[in-house]
Amino acid sequence: MNDQRASALRAAHRPQRPQWTCRACAGEWPCAEGRLELMREYADDRVGLLVYLAGLLVDAVQEVEGTPPNQVMDRFLSWAKSGESH
Ligand SMILES: [Zn+2]
Repeated sequence: MNDQRASALRAAHRPQRPQWTCRACAGEWPCAEGRLELMREYADDRVGLLVYLAGLLVDAVQEVEGTPPNQVMDRFLSWAKSGESH
């Protein structure tokens, strides 16, 4: 029970759609903690991470209001591409 709860908490930094805010901390998704989770999840698969984010980006560009598509793209992808220095 405690283990299940702990893993639910670890996985909590996921997007709340269609606002694309974080379910856990209410920041813009991907939030700092959410990025760390994804970095861990895709530690050996940077291409897989970018493909995953690009898939979400297609939806987010249409759903996020008031943000130009190129800024949404930056928010989703720039950190993942430059993640080596993290
Ligand atoms: Zn978060």
